[in-house]
Amino acid sequence: MEDIEKELEKLSLQIKSCEKCPLYKNRKNAVPGEGNWRNRIILIGEAPGFNEDEQGRPFVGKAGKLLEVFLSSVGKKREEVFITNVVKCRPPNNRQPEEEEIKICTSLYLDKQIELIKPKLIVCLGNVSANYIFKKFGLKFESMNKQHGKVFSVSNLFIQTKIIATYHPAAILRNQNLMTAAKADWEIIKEAIDGLL
Ligand code: URA
Repeated sequence: MEDIEKELEKLSLQIKSCEKCPLYKNRKNAVPGEGNWRNRIILIGEAPGFNEDEQGRPFVGKAGKLLEVFLSSVGKKREEVFITNVVKCRPPNNRQPEEEEIKICTSLYLDKQIELIKPKLIVCLGNVSANYIFKKFGLKFESMNKQHGKVFSVSNLFIQTKIIATYHPAAILRNQNLMTAAKADWEIIKEAIDGLL
């Protein structure tokens, strides 16, 4: 267990000084991710935004506040889960990360975080995250509207996990019509979490 802690810390240091893709040029702080990995629940967003870049921490702006509300609805504090992003540096003007940036960053960092933590539950926050994680685990991601709130079980030699995609909190803030569906998703997420205990 302590080895995992050390390896995650090592990765975190590598992320903070990473210059492997052009996103490092505009960043103030890289955002490795944080939280308690021992519960084996990972929440994965898209990329740091303005506030995250300022503070070097994931989901600390308005979207983060909403994420904390959802987490509290499932009986969890943010410190009790591991929260990270597909890419660890803020894309300029919060544009979506490009395919090449995702490829470089995930192969160096997110994939290793997942390997180390061996999550029993992965919650994908938004399309970019769901698209990456579904493909990684051999699932087809068609659209959030079609696949949100569904539980996908994956089992292979290395990992046994459930994957659930839900709307990104920032998307819900932009479009309140998504709130009802998102709340229902978090009820499914709660059942999955309760099933881990
Ligand atoms: N949006 C994300 O996808 N990640 C963050 O860390 C913050 C906002």
